[in-house]
Formats: sequence, C-alpha cells, structure tokens
Amino acid sequence: MERKVVVVVAVSVAAVACGMAAAAVGWRVRKRREWKKAVRVVREVEEECETSVERLRQVVDAMAVEMHAGLASEGGSKLKMLLTHVHNLPNGSERGTYYALDLEGTYFRVLRVHLNGQQSAILEHEVELQTIPQHLLTSTSKDFFDFIASSLKEFVEKEDDSELSVARRKELGLTFSFPIKQISVCSGILITWTKGFSIVDMVRKDVPACLQEALVRKGLDLRVAALVNDTVGTLALGHYHDADTVAAIVIGTSTNACYLERTDAIIKCQGLLTTSRSMVVNMEWGNFWSSHLPRTSYDIDLNAESPNPNDQGFEKMISGMYLGDIVRRIILKMSLESDILGHISSKFSMPFILSTPMIAAMHEDDSPNLREVERILKDILEIPDVPLKVRKLMMKVCGIVTRRAARLAAAGIIGILKKIGRDGSGGITGGRRSDMKMRRTVVAIEGGLYSNYTLFREYLHEALHEILGEDIAKHVILKVTEDGSGIGTALLAASHSSNNVDRI
Ligand code: ADP
Ligand code: MG
Repeated sequence: MERKVVVVVAVSVAAVACGMAAAAVGWRVRKRREWKKAVRVVREVEEECETSVERLRQVVDAMAVEMHAGLASEGGSKLKMLLTHVHNLPNGSERGTYYALDLEGTYFRVLRVHLNGQQSAILEHEVELQTIPQHLLTSTSKDFFDFIASSLKEFVEKEDDSELSVARRKELGLTFSFPIKQISVCSGILITWTKGFSIVDMVRKDVPACLQEALVRKGLDLRVAALVNDTVGTLALGHYHDADTVAAIVIGTSTNACYLERTDAIIKCQGLLTTSRSMVVNMEWGNFWSSHLPRTSYDIDLNAESPNPNDQGFEKMISGMYLGDIVRRIILKMSLESDILGHISSKFSMPFILSTPMIAAMHEDDSPNLREVERILKDILEIPDVPLKVRKLMMKVCGIVTRRAARLAAAGIIGILKKIGRDGSGGITGGRRSDMKMRRTVVAIEGGLYSNYTLFREYLHEALHEILGEDIAKHVILKVTEDGSGIGTALLAASHSSNNVDRI
C-alpha cells in the first residue's frame, strides 16, 4: 500500500516535471517563432530599402534628367528649379560691413559681418536672436515690418565706427524662408504664408519693398540688396571661402539644394535680359521624385498621413523631420506582427514621438549593453525590459533607414554634378569618358542631420565614393559651412552691393 502511494507520487511528480519541461519547450518554440516574425519584418524592410550602386546610379540619372526638365519649362518637373537672379557669388574680395536679417519662422536673427577683402577673414560677426510677438503673425504688413525695422535700427545703431563701416552705404541681405516668386535679386513676391503666419495684406506683395518702406519710416539708411533662401546663403558662404564651390546642400529638419547653372542652359528664361554667364538655381530638391527611389509601405503611409501628400517625396525619405517617424512605423509593425516587445503602449501610435536625434542616439549607442537604446525605448516609447537581442534589432532598423537616406542624398548630389558635367562622365547624355580632366569640385553642405549624425555622414561619403569611383571622388570635396542663412546672406548683400559696382 505504502509502496503504491510512493509510486503514484513519483509518477505524478514525473508527470508535472514532464509537463513543465514541455511547457518550457513550448514557450521557447513560441518565443523563437515570435522572434522570427520580428526578424522577417526587419529583413523585408532591409530588402525594400536596398540602395545598390546600380540603383543609386539610376537615381543620379533621374535627378539630372528632372533638373533638365525643370529648367526647360515652368512645371516641366516636380523640381521647381527656381531662378534666384543671383549672378554674383561672393569671392572673398568684398570689403566693408554688411547686415543680414534671417526670417525663418517665429523668430528672426540680425547679423553684422565685417569683411576686409581677404577671403578667409570674416573679421567678426555679431548675431542677435529675437522672437516675433504672437499677435504680429496675423497683423498687417506695416505692423509686422515696423517691428522688424525697429529691431534692426536698434542693432545697426549699436555699431562701432570702425574704419570699415564708415562712409559706406549700409546694405542688408534678407533670408526669407517662405514661398516666394523671385523677380530680381532684391525683389520677390510672397506666394503664400506658412508656419502659422497669416498677414493677409502681404500676400502677392514684394517682400523686400515692404521691408524697405518700413526702414525708411524708421529713418534707417539701410538698403535691402539681396533676397535669398537659406540654401543660396550656404552656397554664398562656401564660395566666399572657396571659389571651386559649385553647389550647396542643406540637410536638417528639411532638405534643399542649389547650384550654379549656365544661363544659356536655363531654357525657360531665354530672353531674360542678362549679361551674366551663370545664375544660382534653387532646386527645391525636397520635391524630387523618381520611380527608382526605393519606397516602402512605411513611406506610403507616412506620405498619406502627412499634411502635404504627394509633395516633398525626396525630403520624406531623407530629412531629419521624417527619419525618426519611419523608424517608429517599422517598430510598430514589428510589435503588431510579433510579441517580442510585449504590451504595445499607446505612445507607439503617436506620429513623430521618436525624433531623428533619438534614432541617431540609438544607432550610435556604443555601450556594451546598448543602455541608450534601452533608455529611449523605455522613456520615449514606454517599452520596458527589452532584451539585448531585441535592442540590437532596433539598432539595425535605425541603421537601415538612415543608410538609405544618406545614400539617396549622395545620389542627389551626384545628379547635380552630372547635370553640370562635374561627375567625370560626359554629362547628361554622354557616357563615362576616362580622358576627361576632372576639375576640383566643392559642394557646401550644412544642416543638423549632416553635421550631428556621424553615421549618416559616413554613409553619405561612402556612397559618393561607390558611385563616382575613387579616381573621380577624390576631386569632389564636401565642405561643411556654418550659418549660410546668416553670414552667407550678409555676404550676398556684399556681392550685390552698390558699393561693389566694379564687380558687376
Ligand atoms: P533647421 O533645419 O531646422 O533649420 P538645423 O539645420 O539645425 O535646423 O537642423 C536641425 C535638424 O537636424 C533637427 O530637426 C534634426 O532632425 C536634425 N538633427 C539635429 N541634431 C541631430 C542629431 N544629433 N542626430 C540626428 N539628427 C539631428
Ligand atoms: Mg536652417
């Protein structure tokens, strides 16, 4: 009897142990299945984001072709290829004191730059940042520009009487980051307001003229000599320091490019009275589109849910505004397809909750246990206790999205070089010619994404070398500029100044 009980107990213990072992095996099998599902999502996105050199070369060609089309006729391409009427880029010989007003959004900056005619020397510059009072964003053009003119007056009158600034008429460059139809280098009509502004009586008015009138009202003798966008300012700053600079790229929250084009290649403005051989063209390249761009379902959803669907397609794949959100969408998909992230927090569905600096921090986390990845997942997306293996997968996703962005930007840059015959090939129609002498070619580049995200920069450079080949790539130099929209614009006031008539 006693023995029987022992046997029964032993059998049940064994059964429980077996059951537990089976459960453990089941659990492991299920875990492995879930892991595989997550890996499949990543693998798929990796394939869809593939940017082989062959594909990048197709993007290069498409960019050059679209540039051509945009220059041929108004509306000929998604690339607007806007005429800037900037013919004179600063070259380092400028002298004197010049000002810039950078009106970017709800704040503005005023700058003063002293130049002594020696390329490398911007003797000094001063900057003041001011916020625009909320009520002025919806006021009248008179109230708005009177406010700006008063601030400028205060700033200008603080000037020291250095020998460079006396006996010269004061001139100003204006960076105006709203849609403008440019008429000449110093006049342009506001097409529409963005960024929360709604000063109704300004629409279709000449912006520099409104500012000039306000300056006169305030009794300030300051001429608005140039109206530009920030990318043109970057090109000016690059060219001031290095005359081989032919194009400029901005890759920050948004992205854009401009370059120096032969006037006779700008077919849509044939007949425009100009004696200059070249003009800066503002590409508005964020709007570039080509079927060769590697587009995923995440891009399609992001675009559909954006306030400007079907616009800025290139920008939505490469700029700092969007990269974080593409990564968020991929992680969300992973967590819907598998349970490797456990409970899905509502934070996941909030657009733009994961910023691009955050994915940079995850991607560049070099701590042994990926503590930074863990912190961001926990603090921002509210996913605690993510195993190391899964954290590595998240890091990989950041890399895929960033690598695609950087490589496409590189292809875009080479597209510009191809259009102007600086890519070592025979230009837009010819094949690669080994006998062509490649000239030193500098591209000015700025923006928070490029300057702060090391791996983005490295991917971009790597792609540039892959596409061009070492022999050509060694002649192409990317130079970081700082504050094209401020200093660069002041330099454009100098190169278009009535004090420098000898240059024109
Ligand atoms: P903006 O483009 O807004 O005029 P910036 O050129 O300074 O200003 O770029 C800011 C953008 O750069 C941010 O919105 C962000 O997308 C990106 N950025 C800034 N810092 C980093 C970083 N550490 N890593 C990745 N991206 C960054
Ligand atoms: Mg900027």
